[in-house]
Amino acid sequence: MYEDRFMRRAIEISARALDTPGTEPFGAVVVREGRIVGEGINRSRLDYDPTSHGETEAIRDACRKLETVDLRGCDLYTSCEPCALCVAAMEIAGISQLYYAAGLAEANAAISDLPDSARHSIDSRHLRTQCGRPVEERSMPSQQSLSADATAVLVAWARKVGAGAKTPTVSGAPEG
Ligand SMILES: [Zn+2]
Repeated sequence: MYEDRFMRRAIEISARALDTPGTEPFGAVVVREGRIVGEGINRSRLDYDPTSHGETEAIRDACRKLETVDLRGCDLYTSCEPCALCVAAMEIAGISQLYYAAGLAEANAAISDLPDSARHSIDSRHLRTQCGRPVEERSMPSQQSLSADATAVLVAWARKVGAGAKTPTVSGAPEG
């Protein structure tokens, strides 16, 4: 259930960027059972990490604090509508509900005129389109090689892990 105080907290975190060089004003919190369990702000230029967005940082923080990779049942509040990277991270973590403040169009209107020297800009529409396409249809050239060698490692690992597991817990398609 939506609560204003969590969105206000996400926006408050985003405002830290005004005083913290290297961060960008995108803040997020992960909420479980009425309590904040993770917080994050975009630290991409501060940490030299292009995947550091408010949402990914909040998910990392929540997972480390809860010592889990499963955030099912958690809500994510973010100061700005998430990009495709963050949607993917939320899906992987199992976030149950998204609440966002500024929409992508509003955010773009507010900051899109900034030069690249001021921020690590991303083209959210391009990102969304590319991520949804099969590998052979993306604009980024991709080439496959040594598939059998890599698969052999997967098979060996599955055998080893499977031998130690009483009931299979892995489901879904294999992913890198
Ligand atoms: Zn993002």
